[in-house]
Amino acid sequence: MQLVNAEVVTISPLTEFVHKVTLKPDTAVSFEAGQYLQLVLGEKDKRAFSIASRPSMHHELELHIGASGADSYAMQALEHLQQAHTNKQSVVLEVGLGISQLRVDNQRPIILLAGGTGFSYIKSMADHLAEIEFTQPVLLYWGVKEESALYAKQEMEAWAASRKNFQFIPVVENASATWQGHTGYVHQAVMKDIVSLEPYSIYMAGRFDMIGVVRDDFINHGAEREHMYADAFAFIK
Ligand SMILES: Cc1cc2nc3c(=O)[nH]c(=O)nc-3n(C[C@H](O)[C@H](O)[C@H](O)COP(=O)(O)OP(=O)(O)OC[C@H]3O[C@@H](n4cnc5c(N)ncnc54)[C@H](O)[C@@H]3O)c2cc1C
Repeated sequence: MQLVNAEVVTISPLTEFVHKVTLKPDTAVSFEAGQYLQLVLGEKDKRAFSIASRPSMHHELELHIGASGADSYAMQALEHLQQAHTNKQSVVLEVGLGISQLRVDNQRPIILLAGGTGFSYIKSMADHLAEIEFTQPVLLYWGVKEESALYAKQEMEAWAASRKNFQFIPVVENASATWQGHTGYVHQAVMKDIVSLEPYSIYMAGRFDMIGVVRDDFINHGAEREHMYADAFAFIK
């Protein structure tokens, strides 16, 4: 873990509820794709956010913060960042946390699964896999409630088009009549598409209640527990 001060460079809306934050650390940062950082609000008050940028970007960190409701965990963090940005003060970060980072040494095909802003976690891995020209299949499933929440749809379509072994599958839970792709819960779309999950390494992020359901359903669908990764596992039973 690396403790750094960082300047808040930009805060911009990705949707009505999700904000993109870019930070410039005062020293080069080192982390692995799929790790998270903590924004330090106080000695005992640290807020976890996945690092959306790829590890080769040593001088810039990107976050996607989903914040609604005035007193929410994420809204308070966003307000702290906004205040620092306005006052040109730095924020304190603990960078390079978590145990669910990408493993590419075993050459298994990969499923990257995100619910909502869990996308931030898999974005770093997707970009890193493109950068290292990973040759195994990579299936990126991103589930959202409404189509308007697919804020990086075009970017991920371009990512998938960049290599023949990459696929991007957006899944909309409450789809409109014009939506042509998968509907419902994102992990159910995975189980519809893939007969057995046994060969895959699976990386997942989303709401805690989602991760518990996905873990159990995926194991019933052949997935091997030792090849499933989610930092949320540490917070759920
Ligand atoms: C280490 C760590 C890092 C984190 N990093 C971030 C971060 O960078 N940014 C951030 O905003 N939050 C972060 N969080 C908090 C958490 O990941 C988010 O609260 C969560 O991703 C929010 O999802 P959402 O509200 O956008 O999803 P929703 O919009 O509620 O759901 C999106 C999709 O998820 C699926 N889904 C939701 N609920 C269920 C269910 N019960 N069963 C099956 N599928 C379901 C569905 O496909 C649904 O369409 C982090 C938490 C931890 C522990």
